[in-house]
Amino acid sequence: MNFLFEPPAIPAVPVRGETALFPVNRIFCVGRNYEAHAAEMGFKADREAPFYFIKSPSALVESGATIAYPPGTENYHHEMEFVVAIGGHAFRIAQEDAMSVIYGYGCGLDMTRRDLQFAAREKGRPWDLGKDFEQSAVMAPLTKAADFGAIASQRIVLKVNGQVKQDQKLDDLIWSVPELISHLSRFYHLQPGDLIYTGTPAGVGPVVAGDRLEGEIDGLAPLTLTLGAAA
Ligand code: MN
Repeated sequence: MNFLFEPPAIPAVPVRGETALFPVNRIFCVGRNYEAHAAEMGFKADREAPFYFIKSPSALVESGATIAYPPGTENYHHEMEFVVAIGGHAFRIAQEDAMSVIYGYGCGLDMTRRDLQFAAREKGRPWDLGKDFEQSAVMAPLTKAADFGAIASQRIVLKVNGQVKQDQKLDDLIWSVPELISHLSRFYHLQPGDLIYTGTPAGVGPVVAGDRLEGEIDGLAPLTLTLGAAA
């Protein structure tokens, strides 16, 4: 193809045991999917239906990176998340069939400009400035679904400078992974390359320049992130 300028590189994530990368198509994020996190945000979790926001694939950052403290915020938060990588096609898929389209799983961080998210929320405006910005979607290498096994009571932990800030279990998820895939597929044609950030446990909080973040989920490759000076 003949482009007017060099197009950006395709965002992609490494996979344990593979030399080829997993190319990222879309990034769906689930809101308030742990009861204790909904509570710390000032809400009772909604049991009627999950809700979503989207991050641009260009927001992707590989684990191990040092990223700049982002512009426009004074309250930059970590949100450790269990991420599902889609490897098949799904449209209006039943919950019973939903696991069949999963490629694998990874540790992710949904980095958030909390002050901008709250300002938007108060005015009933979209969350984009708070959620969808450069370097806001951190991903560790994926582990194939078969190597991970069943989603059960694996621990999900986030440490800042060695101190545990978030610590829950995957069975604390309000909306399970098959429920999320089935529900999302009523609104989108899910396809290989889609990522679903499944929501963050309680304990979100601010990070500052110089902080080192370490995320772990039992059975997955760990995640690290270092905060640099302001952009
Ligand atoms: Mn989140």
